[in-house]
Amino acid sequence: MTGLRQVLVPSLPLARFRDLISDERYETLDAAATRARSRLDGHTLWNVNSTASGGGVAEMLAVLVGYTRGAGLDVRWLVTHGDDEFFAITKRIHNRIHGARGDDGDLGPAEAAHYARISAENAALLREQLRPGDVALLHDPQTAGLCGAMREHDVHVVWRCHIGADIVNEWTEQAWSFVIPHVLEAEAFVFSLAHYVPDALRSGHVHIIPPSIDPFSPKNRALDPADVGRIVRRVGLYAGDVEGPAARFVRGDGSDGVVERRASIVGEGPLDPRLPLVVQVSRWDHLKDMQGVMMGFANGVVGRVDANLALVGPSVAGVTDDPEGAIVLDECVDAWHRLPPDAQARIRLVSLPMDDIEENALMVNAVQRTSTIAVQKSLAEGFGLTVAEAMWKAKPVVASPVGGIVDQIAPGTGVLLDDPCDLDGFGDTVAGLLEQPSEIERFAGNAVIHVVDHFVGDRHLLRYASLLDELLGVNRAEDRSE
Ligand code: UDP
Repeated sequence: MTGLRQVLVPSLPLARFRDLISDERYETLDAAATRARSRLDGHTLWNVNSTASGGGVAEMLAVLVGYTRGAGLDVRWLVTHGDDEFFAITKRIHNRIHGARGDDGDLGPAEAAHYARISAENAALLREQLRPGDVALLHDPQTAGLCGAMREHDVHVVWRCHIGADIVNEWTEQAWSFVIPHVLEAEAFVFSLAHYVPDALRSGHVHIIPPSIDPFSPKNRALDPADVGRIVRRVGLYAGDVEGPAARFVRGDGSDGVVERRASIVGEGPLDPRLPLVVQVSRWDHLKDMQGVMMGFANGVVGRVDANLALVGPSVAGVTDDPEGAIVLDECVDAWHRLPPDAQARIRLVSLPMDDIEENALMVNAVQRTSTIAVQKSLAEGFGLTVAEAMWKAKPVVASPVGGIVDQIAPGTGVLLDDPCDLDGFGDTVAGLLEQPSEIERFAGNAVIHVVDHFVGDRHLLRYASLLDELLGVNRAEDRSE
């Protein structure tokens, strides 16, 4: 793939938040939108990343771009191009910023040269579209190499990093040494958590902006329980297909959509819908440890509690900037084949089609709503949007105490594991919670309140508005006084 791709996101009305948040909170949002419009002063706010679908960044961008357009700002989203080697390098950087080695490749001069070459190609294409005075929000290591060229073009540059580690080790050091020279010229930096900011960037203009979920998106909006049932049957998780489309919906652009595709599922036949369902929704990535979830469940839950497990991820062909997906899924499938028959009967590996992103989102929504407990046993995590998504749907989450998950699971809303690598502890915790329906109900109610208080979109938009205040407030005033 060559060239830049613009992702067209329909604008979303801010007024949707009126019924969800207090009047005071809504007025603050409205005032920030007015201020941001005047700060941009006819210029465009560009978001640039390297994939339009799959994973938390694409998910978050669709929401951010939609609502900021709804607020009357000229906001656009461009996806850069790269080749297999480029994405192997950036995946290596991604893994190492998380503190994990990933593959055994290097981040030396050859990789730097290739990274610089692809970045220069993308920068040349960007220069054709961005005008001096515009603002570029460049997302993640895939776009770090564009910062310098965009500054030379007199574009305001913010580098937004969605990943980080709770630890510092040789891998984090190596990855940051690769990335930091590229981003030093950015005027501001955005991280999801304060401790993700590498030392070399701490003296810059750093904003801490945790992501948020959109309660009204296809991924999270309320669904008719009958549609939920039809979708999970169509997907193939539960028995009994439905006639015609499993559900109809109105797309973001106003056209009609249907949920009609099936998932690719590993496991013999559908699951019993009368049993509790444990779900982890994740990309097929070693750091999400789908295989660990499977082993912990097989050893600690199967035989103790009658329950099923669905490991749910995107079809591996659908996430363009993640070359490891197919490998990780294959490893999980091999591990599943080695499970004893009683565990195989309880566990499904589900790859959801990505041909239609809104359809995929409704499938995730329905599966999350069908779950009894959500789990997120990541070994490392940037933020972990799936946690807030499940909590919003009134599901208690059992998760690793890593990255942004720690902030999301407040006491009384779910369970933070002691150690992400302790599979016995994980299985025991999940089984213990399944045995206590009253605890599940208590966590569920608290989880919804916590998400509305902290992780819905208006909080997120306000933080970006103050970033624009800082970035543009002075400059635009100077422009006018000239
Ligand atoms: N996701 C999806 N379809 C899938 C699997 C995952 O849309 O088949 C979404 C999931 O709902 C969430 C995002 O991918 O919105 C994952 O974000 P998270 O922050 O949890 O992890 P990341 O992938 O960014 O590491």
